[in-house]
Amino acid sequence: MRTQVVIVGGGPSGLLLSQLLLKSGIESIVLERKTKDYVLSRIRAGILEQGMLNLMREAGVGDRMDAEGFVHDGTLIAANNETFRIDFVQRTGTPVMVYGQTEVTRDLYEAREKAGGKIVFNTDGVVIHDAKTDAPYVTYTVDGTEHRIDCDFVAGCDGFHGVSRKTIPDSVRSEYEKIYPFGWLGVLSETPPVDDELIYANSPRGFALCSMRNANLSRYYVQCPLTDHVDDWTDAAFWDELKRRIPEEAADKLITGPTIEKSIAPLRSFVTEPMQWGRLFLCGDAAHIVPPTGAKGLNTAASDIHYLYHALKEHYLEGSDEGIDGYSQKALLRIWKAERFSWWMTNLLHRFPDQSDFDLKMQQAQIAFLRDSDAAQTVMAENYVGLPY
Ligand SMILES: Cc1cc2nc3c(=O)[nH]c(=O)nc-3n(C[C@H](O)[C@H](O)[C@H](O)COP(=O)(O)OP(=O)(O)OC[C@H]3O[C@@H](n4cnc5c(N)ncnc54)[C@H](O)[C@@H]3O)c2cc1C
Repeated sequence: MRTQVVIVGGGPSGLLLSQLLLKSGIESIVLERKTKDYVLSRIRAGILEQGMLNLMREAGVGDRMDAEGFVHDGTLIAANNETFRIDFVQRTGTPVMVYGQTEVTRDLYEAREKAGGKIVFNTDGVVIHDAKTDAPYVTYTVDGTEHRIDCDFVAGCDGFHGVSRKTIPDSVRSEYEKIYPFGWLGVLSETPPVDDELIYANSPRGFALCSMRNANLSRYYVQCPLTDHVDDWTDAAFWDELKRRIPEEAADKLITGPTIEKSIAPLRSFVTEPMQWGRLFLCGDAAHIVPPTGAKGLNTAASDIHYLYHALKEHYLEGSDEGIDGYSQKALLRIWKAERFSWWMTNLLHRFPDQSDFDLKMQQAQIAFLRDSDAAQTVMAENYVGLPY
């Protein structure tokens, strides 16, 4: 087989890129290791920045998102028995949207199928060959049969555990990582959200987040030790712990119910450099991870896709390789800023096992500064709604 761009990974990054390329008449084939149902069942991100919303619209898949997504003009921060609000629209003129990653992925799969886009599921043993030449190719097997696709470019959209990043030799690649000494226990429950907006809570018992997916689907998290197992947490224990960490007023009106999903995610900051090696480009989680505190995971994937899509468009439609050559540098500049924001929010809101009294005082002073300073609120809002592409 031959195509212009082979996309390894059929998560949100890969699907969005393939759909955008189609709009510009550029051919691609997506290789996905799992089944479509498996990808659609992964409960992950839920807050979309304006840049991601615009890309979805540009890809022709924004209608359901615009009809069903919830626009959020601000968010609540709770600490030291008080709650204050950061007004995104007042500070930046821009809101964010609550629309789950599962919905994003569903819309993208539907659009790919409608357009006859080629997605190969259940691929095994993907290998990217000759990425440093003008004629790369990708091999893989499905049901034991080997296949080969020749192409012009390879987009590595295969997440943190994929093969694309590891294709770049160790001698070329630098990795930067911070592992946090706690995780997030998250639940999904078919109950109305406790508030119209998200509540980020810093409590002496640890961080908690009240989030949502829609009017009758809530997503709640509590910080937990990495040694905890999901089975240790009954629903009753989870609700009890959440209520102790959020403001009393919210705890009183919290509607609880059976959880329909429960998982523990470790928190990590990770960046690999460069994000490009010859004709192989890394996008999304394949190149970087953030702790979910700043809601940046899916949104940073989207900014990579924006840069790569425009670079490929310039290559094929305008005969310019400026975007291709500058992809890694451009993408990383924005990624590091998002990494900084996610790291800052994580430090601001969590309890760390080795936190001294001085560290706690610093955390409290930072929260008080955020509460009292217009400038600090603007900085936070600017980062939360997403820095420009
Ligand atoms: C548990 C969890 C919770 C999260 N919660 C949030 C959140 O609340 N907010 C937020 O903003 N972000 C969150 N994130 C991050 C966000 O979901 C990711 O940033 C986003 O999924 C990145 O999309 P992606 O397409 O780059 O990678 P992925 O979604 O990981 O997609 C990669 C795809 O590649 C496939 N693949 C892997 N290896 C191969 C291979 N060798 N060959 C072919 N296919 C392959 C995988 O099956 C997968 O479908 C969370 C992530 C996790 C893991």
